[in-house]
Amino acid sequence: MNEFSKNLSLIKNTIADSELRYGRNPGSVSLLAVSKGQSIEKIKQAINAGQRSFGENYLQEALLKITALTDQTIEWHFIGAIQSNKTKKIAASFQWVQSISEFNIAKRLNDQRPSTLPPLNICLQVNLAEETNKSGITAENVFALAAECAKLPRLRLRGLMAIPAISHDFNEQRASFRQLYQLYQALCEQGLALDTLSMGMSQDMVAAIAEGTTMVRIGTALFGKR
Ligand SMILES: *Cc1c(COP(=O)(O)O)cnc(C)c1O
Repeated sequence: MNEFSKNLSLIKNTIADSELRYGRNPGSVSLLAVSKGQSIEKIKQAINAGQRSFGENYLQEALLKITALTDQTIEWHFIGAIQSNKTKKIAASFQWVQSISEFNIAKRLNDQRPSTLPPLNICLQVNLAEETNKSGITAENVFALAAECAKLPRLRLRGLMAIPAISHDFNEQRASFRQLYQLYQALCEQGLALDTLSMGMSQDMVAAIAEGTTMVRIGTALFGKR
C-alpha cells in the first residue's frame, strides 16, 4: 500500500467510527480530498486508491490538473477565493463551487455555465465569526443570498461551506459547527432543498461529524504537508 492509501483508509475509518459514535447514518459523511499544492502524480495515486472528489483553491493550478486528468471520472470542487475575471473558466471546468459569498459572482457563474453541462453545484461560504481575513458571508446575510441564488437556473444550490475560527479545543470546535448546522437547518426550513453542509478539515473533522457535516474537506491528513 502506498502512503496515500494508508492515509485514506485511516481517514475513512475515522469517518465511519465518528458516524457510529455520534449517531450519524453510516455513509452520510463524504470525503473531499483537498489537492491544492499537491502534484498530479499524487492525485493519480489518490485516484488509483479509489478517491474521486478533489478540491482546489487556485484556478491556474487546478486547470493544469484538470487538463492532465481529463480521462478520469473526477468531480472537481472549487473551494478558493473567486475573482470575477476567473468565473468563466471556473464555470466551464468544475462540477462544484463551494466558495460563493457574493451574488455578483453567482450570477456570472450562472450566465457563463456552458449549456452543454448540467447546472453547476454551489455552496455558499459562511464566515461565522466574521473574521476579516476570511471570505464568506455573515450568517445574517446568508438567507437573502441563498434565496437569490436558488433562482438561478444554471446553478444548483446544494448548501453551505465554512472554515470556522481555528480552535484546538474539541468543545469549542463543536460549538462553531453546531451554529453552522443550525443555520443550515434554518435555510432548509425556509423551503430550500439543500443536502450539503461542507465543514471539517484535517484538524477538526471529528467535531464536524459530531455536529452534522455531510462533507469533510481533507488535505494535509491525506496527502501530507503541502
Ligand atoms: C486547504 C483547505 C482545506 C484542507 O485543509 P487541511 O487542513 O489541509 O485538511 C479545506 N478547505 C479549504 C477551503 C481549504 O482551503
